[in-house]
Amino acid sequence: MSKDLCLVLRAAFFSGEKHKDQRRRDATETPYINHPLEVAYILMEEGGITDAATLAAALLHDTIEDTNTTREELVMVFGREVSDLVVELTDLKTTAPEDKKRLELAHAHHLSPKAKQIKLADKTANIRDLVTMPPANWDLNRKTAYFDFALQIAKAAEDASPELMSVFMRDYNHFKPK
Ligand code: ZN
Repeated sequence: MSKDLCLVLRAAFFSGEKHKDQRRRDATETPYINHPLEVAYILMEEGGITDAATLAAALLHDTIEDTNTTREELVMVFGREVSDLVVELTDLKTTAPEDKKRLELAHAHHLSPKAKQIKLADKTANIRDLVTMPPANWDLNRKTAYFDFALQIAKAAEDASPELMSVFMRDYNHFKPK
């Protein structure tokens, strides 16, 4: 049995349990777990990333931020490398939305290479979803602003994967509201 595959599947199962009552903001209220699954899939399928810790952390990237999951719990179940990556990708809860964006951008420059790869896949998933399954209450301005923000984050993380950056740019150019 492959240890790596087992780690990735354990992360998918764990994340599914943690996010089980959460929905996305689109009109049909897609189950939240579809988002981390999409991020992990983009990393592997489109970015060629096969590192198990990266894929597991992608599946878990919102668990500390959006569920009752603690860092200690992730260390216990997945070990330190995966939990450190998830902590890197956890935004501070206590700040106003505008500050949150500013902090996420400042922080993006200093992420480890694996965390940057997850960021790139995350922003790719977000801009795709913004067009294919938009949040019910977002107007054009808000969507355009998010595209600009995602581009800045992607540029901050670009050095970690030229492949993922080109996937992001292709979708950015294809989907950006005109
Ligand atoms: Zn995300």
